[in-house]
Amino acid sequence: MVEAVQSRAAQQGPRGVSILGATGSIGASTLDVIARHPGQFRVVAVTAHTKVAELAALCVQHRPHLAVIGDPGREPELRALLRRAGLSTRVGSGIEGLLEAAQSQDAAVVVAAIVGAAGLLPTIAAARAGKRLLLANKEAIVCAGALLLEAVRSGGATLLPLDSEHNAIHQCLAGAGSHEGVRRLILTASGGPFRECRDFSAVTPEQACAHPNWRMGRKISVDSATLMNKGLEVIEASWLFGFARGQIDVVVHPQSVVHSMVEFGDGSVLAQMGTPDMRTPIAYALGFPQRIDSGSEPLNFLRMAALTFEAPDLDRFPCLALAYRALEAGPTASIVLNAANEIAVEAFLARGLPFTAIAAVISEALDAIAAPAPESVDGVLQIDALARRHARQAIAEIAATGVR
Ligand code: NAD
Ligand code: MG
Repeated sequence: MVEAVQSRAAQQGPRGVSILGATGSIGASTLDVIARHPGQFRVVAVTAHTKVAELAALCVQHRPHLAVIGDPGREPELRALLRRAGLSTRVGSGIEGLLEAAQSQDAAVVVAAIVGAAGLLPTIAAARAGKRLLLANKEAIVCAGALLLEAVRSGGATLLPLDSEHNAIHQCLAGAGSHEGVRRLILTASGGPFRECRDFSAVTPEQACAHPNWRMGRKISVDSATLMNKGLEVIEASWLFGFARGQIDVVVHPQSVVHSMVEFGDGSVLAQMGTPDMRTPIAYALGFPQRIDSGSEPLNFLRMAALTFEAPDLDRFPCLALAYRALEAGPTASIVLNAANEIAVEAFLARGLPFTAIAAVISEALDAIAAPAPESVDGVLQIDALARRHARQAIAEIAATGVR
């Protein structure tokens, strides 16, 4: 098998990989895995939102053909840095640049690792262009699940999840051979930094971002602290694997060793385990169906403490309950949930909203906005914009009155 992979690489050369969100946590892990397999993969495009110097440094190191900065105002700075480094990398910016990176002819693989609904258009573009699409950007599938899956189908793309839980389920279902006989999916959750917290009134952004098991971007870290991350993942799982809410359960597993499980009608449960290191799911999706080295530490069973499991507490973590409510209500509610959450988390990180008010902002937006499921990406973006306006208004009212 390994020889077959090597000889294919030797015949065709390394596969081009475009990394959307290359300066982030998933971007860094992806670059690390790729660097271990120079014969098999080559970075052809990298994008970032505002971090020009970091993006230029990645260009020096990985020599992509294309570098894109999301903020168009920073494009001249990026050009100057690349010129000074003696590189002839093509430069793009704004949404046009991101779309070019997503559709690049040089890329067989696109890693969707932009955070938030900002990644939606490039993710859909990569699907339409028929890429192997490695999806970390869960917000894209949460707010446009049906449209993204349709783009994957019509574009002939291959969608592989990077989120560790969904990657685990993909592995369990691939091992099972089919979805037949599956009774339920069991997503594990670490419980985040506040698993045992009883009083959330003085929670700071620093505390919320100090995740016990994973080093991640700030938005997903806050989502993990509120358990909204698990809520988004339940919605993500329902789209990816085609199961209804009643067949997707969440269990809190603080050690983050079992990454998720599939239970079958005969009582068998398949679990995927490993050290908590995103390089494992990234390597799985890059190499699939072959297994390639990820650089992660092997799991040491003899040094492992007990593995424990407990029910999530929906009273202390109302964001998870809101996500269940949104999934049951339909696609529009998922867009509203995601957009209001993005705005509330941004405000919390900027110290403009108490941690305890995040759920209230989302709940109000869900109460206020109802519309039929959008049939186009434009329709998704309209509901997203409406929910963002609504959430900003709710946050302004909270700031003015202090009530919640
Ligand atoms: P991060 O904040 O570390 O990185 C985000 C990347 O997106 C950066 O490169 C940034 O420049 C880019 N970006 C941000 N806003 C943008 C915008 N408006 N336009 C264009 N680019 C923009 O985040 P992360 O932790 O790497 O997470 C990325 C995605 O992967 C998220 O959707 C997250 O939920 C998901 N994910 C992350 C992890 C993890 O371990 N970090 C695990 C599972 C899923
Ligand atoms: Mg996850």
